[in-house]
Amino acid sequence: MDKSKIFDISIDNITKEEAVNMAVSRIEADIFTIVVTPNAEIIKKCIDDENVKKAITSAHMILPDGDGTLWAAKELGVPLKEKVAGVEFGKNLIKEAAKKGFKLFLLGGKPGVAEKAAENLKKEYPNLSICGFSDGYFGKSGIESDKMIKKINDSKADILYVCLGAPAQEIWVHENREKLSSVKLVACLGGSLDIYAGTVKRAPALFVKLKLEWFWRLLKQPTRIGRMMNIPKFMIYVKKYKKQMKKESRGIANES
Ligand code: UDP
Repeated sequence: MDKSKIFDISIDNITKEEAVNMAVSRIEADIFTIVVTPNAEIIKKCIDDENVKKAITSAHMILPDGDGTLWAAKELGVPLKEKVAGVEFGKNLIKEAAKKGFKLFLLGGKPGVAEKAAENLKKEYPNLSICGFSDGYFGKSGIESDKMIKKINDSKADILYVCLGAPAQEIWVHENREKLSSVKLVACLGGSLDIYAGTVKRAPALFVKLKLEWFWRLLKQPTRIGRMMNIPKFMIYVKKYKKQMKKESRGIANES
């Protein structure tokens, strides 16, 4: 698989279509797969927190979500074909799951959200098999977590969507991956169930086109401001890193 490195994270240089095709072929070949979709906020967390970095980099598919990720790739001169938003990837894979008969378990969101998402998705894709759902407010370790794993295993799901917010969802999946017995593909998809349920609206097309999806999320959820401060911090980090790289390559050129 073609990868592009942003700091220590090897991100898949892949289109939306290629991402779904790859996910489907891995499910069909019964190759256990974890999918994560890091945006700038998460990449910044990987720089600051070794545990987050381990959870993200141990995934099998690392999709470039967020305009910040694409911007950083451009700044650092590494190729990324296009943005692969988790919410869109999730929807495209559901379309294929409905055709191929893969069973899906939805985990996350406030009580009622996963159920409403399941109801909406079934309306849109009547052939889709949703074998279970649960809200995301359970203990992320110990008995409650093990009970949740048992519920997922008993459902015999092929695909599991984990929507607990980043990076909690990636860490929970990383810590529990060995316990998942039937699941072939786990996708960590943040607030996607809220979008499928209709409790949160995705940014209008114009915001997406103008690369202002982050601004829409901030308008809708002003409490995100704290965590979103990671975006300018990430941009400063990228700029400094680029400057350092230039300085070092000039140094090497002068030596030779
Ligand atoms: N959430 C959850 N369990 C928790 C904390 C959060 O299921 O313990 C859900 C929350 O209800 C929301 C999602 O996780 O549906 C986080 O959405 P957000 O848009 O913040 O995703 P992110 O940007 O972190 O990927």
